[in-house]
Amino acid sequence: LNFTKAEFFQSAPTLQQCPPESGREVAFAGRSNAGKSSAINCLAGNRKLARTSKTPGRTQLINFFNITPQQRLVDLPGYGFAKVPLAVKRQWDQNLSQYLRERQSLKGLILLMDVRQPMKEFDTMMLNWAVEAEMPVHILLTKSDKLKKGPAKNTLLSVRKHVKEANVDDLVSVQTFSALKKEGITQLEQVLTQWLHI
Ligand code: GDP
Repeated sequence: LNFTKAEFFQSAPTLQQCPPESGREVAFAGRSNAGKSSAINCLAGNRKLARTSKTPGRTQLINFFNITPQQRLVDLPGYGFAKVPLAVKRQWDQNLSQYLRERQSLKGLILLMDVRQPMKEFDTMMLNWAVEAEMPVHILLTKSDKLKKGPAKNTLLSVRKHVKEANVDDLVSVQTFSALKKEGITQLEQVLTQWLHI
């Protein structure tokens, strides 16, 4: 699969307005600043691609990028940065969990967390929803270049241990990733290619 073919396709403010559920898609989620745009851009070899999702007004939208007409990457709204009213936050929680449960074309979730602060409240929440929906999850511990090899490896092992102890290791995998150093791209591409394979 040639990820450099990825191009912006469509934005949707709600689940009801998403494109038709044909083909296969993989969604990217993470707290704001986790490195989601950088990861998507790095994968696509295009520094501007995910900028669309940073355009004011588009931050709360689900953004779809086509690799082929039947294979998509989905950029879910960043989470936890803006001080949104609780009612809006609840609505978003509902949207996200519904998307994971009901979206037929969704084949997996890439969950990004800063390697220096993994498994925050949002991450655990997304992970639980995905597992409840029996949706495969691949965790990216991002910005791995910010830590020395030893500490980065320790975080990787401890998140893997958490996954194993929660008995969800059949659905959940974990890797370290750096968009800056282009570390872990091959591993990420392998997961995506498997999920998006037609
Ligand atoms: P998003 O809000 O999740 O889309 O996060 P961004 O991709 O915009 O990244 C947030 C900040 O982290 C930016 O300042 C990026 O330059 C930085 N960043 C993202 N990925 C990496 C990485 O792999 N290494 C380092 N050192 N910084 C990164």
